[in-house]
Order: sequence, then C-alpha cells, then structure tokens
Amino acid sequence: MLYVVGKRHWIRRRKRRAFTKLLKIAKKLEKGGISTSEEERLIDQIAEVLKKDHPPKPLTIRLFICKRCRSFLRPGVNARVRIRSRRRPHLVITCLTCGQIRRIVYKPPRPPTKRSIGNVYGTRRQADQTVSRVSKEE
Ligand SMILES: [Zn+2]
Repeated sequence: MLYVVGKRHWIRRRKRRAFTKLLKIAKKLEKGGISTSEEERLIDQIAEVLKKDHPPKPLTIRLFICKRCRSFLRPGVNARVRIRSRRRPHLVITCLTCGQIRRIVYKPPRPPTKRSIGNVYGTRRQADQTVSRVSKEE
C-alpha cells in the first residue's frame, strides 16, 4: 500500500534528525578535550546543519557559541557568566576572547500553584492532597 504523507511530515522528520545531530555535536563540545581545529570544524558543522534544515537550537548551542568570534564558550575558561537582577533578572555571558557581551533575560521560576501541580501529577484532588501535605511539612 502506498502511503501518501504530506510535505510537512518530511520537513518535520528532517528537522528532528537535524536536531538530534546538533545535540550530538553539542555533547562533544561540552565534553571538551578536543583541539581548537576540531572545535572549529564542529562549529562549522553546526552552521551547515542550521543553514540547511533550520532545526531548533539546543540550549548549549543557543547560549554558548560566541556570535562574533564563533568560539565555544566555557564558563570559567573563556567566558564569564553572571546573573544580574537589576531592571529584569538576566544572565550576562561575556566572551573573554573577543569581549562580546550577551544578555539573556529570563523569568525567575515561580513557586508551583495548585493548578500547575494538578496538571503534572494527575487529578485536582491528588494535587490538593499533595499541596496540603507539602504545606504541613513546612
Ligand atoms: Zn567571542
């Protein structure tokens, strides 16, 4: 039998595969212990994959590749990461190779509400029990 699937299906599949590829590369970069030329090669690979299939970027790639000098940022080695709370809570990632600064605004995590717990851990009643148990322990 011939299955007819839309173009979208193939695009999604390609994106998913590209994403896992990126994850693999990111893992290699995170692990470290590779030469500078090897690192450059990996980053070139990432750029190629992104250009071709436009997959979502894994967090490591999104945050820890310098956009100016394209080096992989390792906090404490060639990058400085600071959390600032003024104006809006944000991260400041500074590349110590070229001095590029990036600010990433984030929402601080909110304490879980009854509703959000209910969504994760089953019914509303179970959530109520969990919440009352937790608040008793405190
Ligand atoms: Zn840089």
